[in-house]
Parts: sequence; structure tokens; C-alpha cells
Amino acid sequence: MPIFDTHAHLDDDKYLKDLDNVVLSFTNANNRILCVATGINSSKRCSEIANNYSFVFFSAGIHPNSITQNPENSIELLDIFIKDKKPIALGEIGLDRFRDYTPFDLQIQYFVAQIQLARKYNLPILIHCRDAWNDMLPLLETEVRKYGPIKGVIHSFTGNLDHAEKCIKLGLYLSFAGMLTYKKNDALRRVAAKCPIEKILVETDAPYLAPEPFRGKRNEPSFINYTVKTLAEILNVSMEELENQLWINSNKVLNLPS
Ligand SMILES: [Zn+2]
Repeated sequence: MPIFDTHAHLDDDKYLKDLDNVVLSFTNANNRILCVATGINSSKRCSEIANNYSFVFFSAGIHPNSITQNPENSIELLDIFIKDKKPIALGEIGLDRFRDYTPFDLQIQYFVAQIQLARKYNLPILIHCRDAWNDMLPLLETEVRKYGPIKGVIHSFTGNLDHAEKCIKLGLYLSFAGMLTYKKNDALRRVAAKCPIEKILVETDAPYLAPEPFRGKRNEPSFINYTVKTLAEILNVSMEELENQLWINSNKVLNLPS
């Protein structure tokens, strides 16, 4: 079965020298990659990369930690960009209390505005949530109550079981990255073990979060197999069954044909 790396930052400078090798070594096996943007220029770059490879798709969006590095009329620019270039998802967007790069009220403002854009263009959202669950969950619950269901993914999920259950109840998918393979991460593996298999995705978040045995190195989409293997053990299913289900889930949330 092919694998979908649902979150990779191929526009990162760490791939400047060998992007072609990194992408083709993975997509030659019919695998797919979602190249995820973090700002206005990043969205443009992700779109250009996706244009070069038939198995690479792209998103557009402004990451909470890069808001202040983007123009003040970013939401307007993003709206124009989406209309013109047609990304398949909006992200990554979200809330981050771990890093203090953007005032939190501004993060909320951008997050809400981008959810509205996602609704306008009927796009799934890619959510970043770091140390901000107490803000994120009520915000999403209010959104859904007021404006209806949200289609999307909590990327690189590292919350607890309560967070997982609430996200799933909101209709969101949980995407697991390389942290699932780290030796000390039993807590995350216990949460993953309780997630319904039809709500799970996998991703690399490359170039970050390389799985064991590559931890600390530059990550790339082809390393995703280590995370899939760990997940199959946790869920106690065959690799074949898991890969099949992950393929269905990924394409379903991203509105692509399986
Ligand atoms: Zn990311």
C-alpha cells in the first residue's frame, strides 16, 4: 500500500541541495506528500514545489509562530492566493504557548480568521497546538456550535486521552509523527492505542521530529515507515491493514481520490 506523509515542510532550507532526491525516493512508490506552508512566501514556495511533482500536494496558511514575520494584510493576501492557486488544505494554523513569538491575542485572531477562510473555500484545516489545549478546545467547540462542523487534522498530536477524545468528538483526525517512536513516550503510545483507527493519520513534520533511529537528524518523508511500524504494534494490527486504513483516512480528510 502507498503511504501518505500528511505533513512535511519541503520548502525548508534544509532541502535546498537535494529536494529532488528526498521527494522522488519517496513518491516513486506512489506515495503522496502534503507540503505544508507556514506563511505567505512559504505558501508560494509550497505551491511551486507541488507543481513539480505529481504526488506532492500543498497547503496555504500562516503558522502561529510566524505571524509577525508576515505582512499585516496577510489574511487578505492568503485569500487571494487560495482563490488563485487552489491549495488542498489550509495550514498550518493554530495556537502556541510554548514559544513566545507572537502575542497570544494575535494568534487567536489569525487562527479564527483562517478557519473562516477554510470555510469559505471548503478546505480542511491543519492545526498546530502546543501547550494551548485549554484555549484550543473551547475555541473549536464554540466554532462548531456557531458555524457547523470543521474538517481537519491535529498535526503532530501530543495531547492526552481527554484531548484526543474531545478532538475526535469534534470530527477531527489525529496525526502522529516521529515522537511516537521515542523511547520515553509511553504516555503518547497509550493515547494512540485508544484512538479509533479510522481517525488516525501519520506524518513526518520533516525536517523536524525524525523518528527513531534517526532522532536528532534531518527528517524526510521516507522515514515515515518507522512511525507506521510503531503504530501498527501499538494498535495490534498488521502493517497491511494499517497502511490500507491510513491511505483511506488521509485521502478522505484531504478530499483526494484514493
Ligand atoms: Zn509543521
